[in-house]
Amino acid sequence: MKFGTKVIHAGIEPDPTTGAIMTPIYQTSTYVQEAPGVHKGYEYARTQNPTRTVLENNLAALENGSSAICFASGLAAMDSILKLLNPGDEVISTDDLYGGSYRIMTKVFAKYGIGFTFAGIGDIPTLDALITPKTRMIWVETPTNPMLNVIDIKAVCDHVRGKNILVCVDNTFASPYLQNPLDLGADLVVHSATKYLGGHSDVIHGAVITRNEEIAGQIRFLQNAVGAVPGPQDCFLILRGIKTLHIRVERACQNAQKIAAYLKAHPKVSKVYYPGFPEHPGHEVAKKQMKMFGAMVSFDLQGNNEDNARKVLSNTHLFSLAESLGGVESLIGHPASMTHGSIPREERLKVGLTDSLIRLSVGIEDVDDLINDLEMALQKI
Ligand SMILES: *Cc1c(COP(=O)(O)O)cnc(C)c1O
Repeated sequence: MKFGTKVIHAGIEPDPTTGAIMTPIYQTSTYVQEAPGVHKGYEYARTQNPTRTVLENNLAALENGSSAICFASGLAAMDSILKLLNPGDEVISTDDLYGGSYRIMTKVFAKYGIGFTFAGIGDIPTLDALITPKTRMIWVETPTNPMLNVIDIKAVCDHVRGKNILVCVDNTFASPYLQNPLDLGADLVVHSATKYLGGHSDVIHGAVITRNEEIAGQIRFLQNAVGAVPGPQDCFLILRGIKTLHIRVERACQNAQKIAAYLKAHPKVSKVYYPGFPEHPGHEVAKKQMKMFGAMVSFDLQGNNEDNARKVLSNTHLFSLAESLGGVESLIGHPASMTHGSIPREERLKVGLTDSLIRLSVGIEDVDDLINDLEMALQKI
């Protein structure tokens, strides 16, 4: 089945009891048993829910995995992955990553004796120098947030193969339509389904996908033991969002390409971060591992003036000033004070995340209106 068919059909059958074409929302906490231990595969809704099962089967197919395990949020999904580790284990992560991911690592799991190192691991010699006998996991976000660096997933996986190190890829920015890390050798994929998978800014949700059934079993155990499960209505909304994933992401990528080109030519803009530019350092890798170049664009202003950035951020009308990304509507954000506020300023500046950096999540509106909106805001400075 090709991707555009999978989003609509993979793992999804008409409801067996009524023929309902849409997966019903099984709003129930428990399931009646005929006799003790005699049931239809469902006992208690923390453990299993039929709406969630359908979504998990669909997500597994989208990432070419064998199992997907869904959670109440992207960070809850990540929490279960980090709980695969033991005290003393070490994780090497990309140094430019989602602020909440940095926070759960450094403020939650570090306390339990897990070590974290952040570095530009797209460079294999840099990665190699950081690997120790205690390294158990490599955490990869690509494209990175918000600097849009591209990490060669296959090169990282090839490098650690046979070393008893799990490679986990946060595939939120790309979505399964653009990039499938399991095909490149990754052990685990995590999504904040809140973003492109849901696609309509109306639900918080997360998922882990893998081909390794042993790890899937451990994560399923954690899902049930810890209990950060999504409600059935949230699963329904993600299933509904996924049906148009390919169309939405394709249009958003096309819009982003035009907006990146417009910004690059703008006299008030000093730098545009977008992997679709041939001179972007990750362009060749992006071309190899992604179907298109994504719909996230970051840019900086001449003079790196934060007040000017604030003017732009407060003067767009179609681009809404908000955290998050991946919805049908375009968003504009200020990583230094919003999504990446939990990362210390010195750490931010090291990766080029200045106080004047602006991040766009390009939506699927008419691109001429979006460019016009940015033009009006840039005229204010
Ligand atoms: C939003 C996001 C997360 C966290 O997901 P939630 O659903 O908000 O918990 C993790 N990684 C990336 C790249 C994100 O954008």
